[in-house]
Amino acid sequence: MNAVPNSTDWAAVRADFPVLTREVHGKPLIYFDSANTGQKPEAVIAAVDDFYRRHNANVSRAVHALGSEATELYESARSKLARFLNVRGDELVLCSGTTFAINLVAYSWALPRLKAGDAIVLTRMEHHANIVPWQLVAQRTGAVIKVAEIDERGQLDLDQLYSLLTPEVKLLALTHVSNVLGTVNPVREICREARKRGIVTLIDGSQAAPHRPLDIAAIGCDFYAITGHKMSGPTGTGALWARREHLDAMPPFIGGGEMIKEVRFEGTVFADGPRRFEAGTPNIAGFAGLGAAVDYLSALGMANIEAREQALLSRFTDALKQVPGLRIFGEAADKAAVVSFLIEGAHAHDLATLLDLEGVAIRSGHHCAHPLMQHFGVPATCRASLAYYNTFEEIDAFVTALTKVRKLLA
Ligand code: PLP
Repeated sequence: MNAVPNSTDWAAVRADFPVLTREVHGKPLIYFDSANTGQKPEAVIAAVDDFYRRHNANVSRAVHALGSEATELYESARSKLARFLNVRGDELVLCSGTTFAINLVAYSWALPRLKAGDAIVLTRMEHHANIVPWQLVAQRTGAVIKVAEIDERGQLDLDQLYSLLTPEVKLLALTHVSNVLGTVNPVREICREARKRGIVTLIDGSQAAPHRPLDIAAIGCDFYAITGHKMSGPTGTGALWARREHLDAMPPFIGGGEMIKEVRFEGTVFADGPRRFEAGTPNIAGFAGLGAAVDYLSALGMANIEAREQALLSRFTDALKQVPGLRIFGEAADKAAVVSFLIEGAHAHDLATLLDLEGVAIRSGHHCAHPLMQHFGVPATCRASLAYYNTFEEIDAFVTALTKVRKLLA
């Protein structure tokens, strides 16, 4: 697909995704699980294929042509991502995804700094990837974790959040967009408040980067983590953006090749900047694919994608509200196209299993957000999450399937 005009032909965009043409249990696939992982367009699949067919070599270590091409593909993914996020490439650590990115901050920034008496503030709506690393840090340092709560619509209670930002707090780590509720947090305002109080901020951008224009420089955070597989890119790719002052002050987290200037048995001089955190052979083919994914999303335009997904969300929410006994979890004023729900009398897993037989892929479970489930007093919810390649017809077919399945379970 080439440059996309303003009046995007969404049917043509959808046709770029080979998997969306398949059938499941004899029914056309309705893939409503993009918050889990996004589907990949032909351009991304082709970039990975092309890497192995034509360019396969390791990065940085070889002077031969293939080695230079592989290095060029890997580095161009960094510069494309940097442009996409509006940050400097020399502040962007390429890694396997958000989980690694947050652990890198936990082990390399927090662990050497935090001590007993310090505090870390998280929110009720965090993914386990933005909870467990901080618990490990807290256990080792004696720091404590405090939690910002949500209101009945699934929005952060900002007054309560700001009341937690006391002088002991060294880090505020929160998600940009909730993977369960769809809530879009006002991260710019929150980071401004944290900064006023000298508190370092980390934003988990896993569910934001695929769905809306991002300007990390404008957000004003200290760390921002993304994961490539939710951005129409390959699994095992992602990045951590960190302010250069932090990167320069952080010791390496994992040691090995690629991250050094010189190694002697007496000691090692580490590479500067992001490379100090990129030990070992990276997922080069994956980053070739992520570069293609960034090109693809950029050609579509993130504002365009956001508008499309908001239109889908609006139709989807209206339709779900007509289903008797259906409860939606999360109705924030600013919300991404993620809808968690339950139907009275039906277990989430039963609903998802029966929907699968109708060709519909949604997620059921705790969505790696146990504390949020505890808040709502439920063990699990169903979660339908949409992306720009979904259609209004799929929404109608989904509601028909849900109505049928609901009757079976009633
Ligand atoms: N944070 C959020 C909000 C997520 O939705 C996810 C994935 O579901 C993650 C973190 C973890 O991402 P990954 O497993 O790609 O590292």
